[in-house]
Amino acid sequence: MATTNGKQKVLIVGGGFGGIKAALELAKDGGEHFQVTLLSDQTHFRYYPSLYRTATGGTPANSSIPLASLFEGSEVNIRQGEAVTLDRKAHTLTLRDGTVLEFDVLVLGLGVVTNYFGIPGMQDFSYSIKSPAEIIRFKEHLHRQLADDRRPDLNYVIVGAGPTGIELAGALPGYLEKIMANHDIKHKAIHIDLVEAAPHLLPRMPRDTSRMVTRRLRRLGIKIFTQKVVQGVSGDQLTVSGKPLMSHTVIWTAGVTNHPFFKDNGFTLTPRGKVATDMYLQADDNIYVIGDNANTPYSGMAQTALLDGTYVADAIQRRAKGDDPRSYKVKKPITVIPVGERWVAVLWGKTRLYGWLGWILREAADLVAFADYEPWWKAGKQWLTGFDYEESCKVCLAAERRSMVDK
Ligand SMILES: Cc1cc2nc3c(=O)[nH]c(=O)nc-3n(C[C@H](O)[C@H](O)[C@H](O)COP(=O)(O)OP(=O)(O)OC[C@H]3O[C@@H](n4cnc5c(N)ncnc54)[C@H](O)[C@@H]3O)c2cc1C
Repeated sequence: MATTNGKQKVLIVGGGFGGIKAALELAKDGGEHFQVTLLSDQTHFRYYPSLYRTATGGTPANSSIPLASLFEGSEVNIRQGEAVTLDRKAHTLTLRDGTVLEFDVLVLGLGVVTNYFGIPGMQDFSYSIKSPAEIIRFKEHLHRQLADDRRPDLNYVIVGAGPTGIELAGALPGYLEKIMANHDIKHKAIHIDLVEAAPHLLPRMPRDTSRMVTRRLRRLGIKIFTQKVVQGVSGDQLTVSGKPLMSHTVIWTAGVTNHPFFKDNGFTLTPRGKVATDMYLQADDNIYVIGDNANTPYSGMAQTALLDGTYVADAIQRRAKGDDPRSYKVKKPITVIPVGERWVAVLWGKTRLYGWLGWILREAADLVAFADYEPWWKAGKQWLTGFDYEESCKVCLAAERRSMVDK
């Protein structure tokens, strides 16, 4: 393969779970054989599993880590920009701003994008918790509703009972009550509905887990509607299977689709929209596709993206040495779903854990996950942010400080 200064130019696109892991693994070479560039359209790594915490009072620092901090002292060149066009023959990638980047090896881990399935009004009137900006908008809305108007519409509707919808449904009642208490609002009943089109919650998971989670959510006061389809949303109501439901707060967690980059650049897609790859996660010669983008059995989970990033770095290193890479081996991830305070459902192979034991495991899993990307001391600091509370609302912040002093 053609190289520059005897070094292969490895261009990694996507500063998420897979891309960062691949870059960190290749950086262990100390820049001897590879010139590694990580391109991302964000300055921070989003730790998605904690976004629901940030959306319900937690600090943004728990779910967002600067790329510059993750790569401090490494040889990886971090670039900000949005990849738009791939030229396979010229081995170049063109960014939105017109910059052209050359590569010998390309790794693509761009993640997924929200899909509203064309439901009228959903994109305009719903809230989402997939990015820090969306979370700020959501939290500001909750505070405005509850505190400023003092005539709140206390009907909240979460659409989609996958892990994200369930995590949010579990954490929302406690958060809303906290806002009301902080603002001295007389306690009022909250109604949180969880709407799912499938016959049961967590449609891709075993039925016993679905049943346990359903029971837990009901105990938290969540009303569950299964086999119900949202057909439209306006500013103050939504239509669910033909019937109107009043709400000013609809949160969409029901759909994602593969990143449009792949369709736009002529990649072969499978019927579920993922990129078809060979046994080395290659979509083309020296073009690897990882994480949520690749058609692997457990694509769509952080642990899979991490595995893919590690695998691809190893394959690139082996090829550079003239060895054959090992073929990609699937690993079933552990599923961990928090449902309210100190209650977590864990599926680990055939083992199931529910409740506070699951919660301890989840806390440990977060620490291990941070340590996959950072030295232990930094990972520990990052993990501790999971216990911090942060609000832009001054009233809530002052109340929280007072309660810390009282403790
Ligand atoms: C709210 C939420 C909660 C989740 N919770 C869990 C959980 O508890 N456990 C679990 O296992 N999984 C969870 N997931 C799924 C998990 O986060 C993903 O599987 C994982 O992030 C996939 O990693 P990735 O590297 O493929 O993509 P991502 O981590 O999404 O990274 C993609 C990166 O590419 C960047 N990018 C996108 N387009 C471009 C472009 N054109 N040019 C340059 N850069 C670009 C993005 O900004 C991002 O930085 C959750 C997902 C969400 C949304």
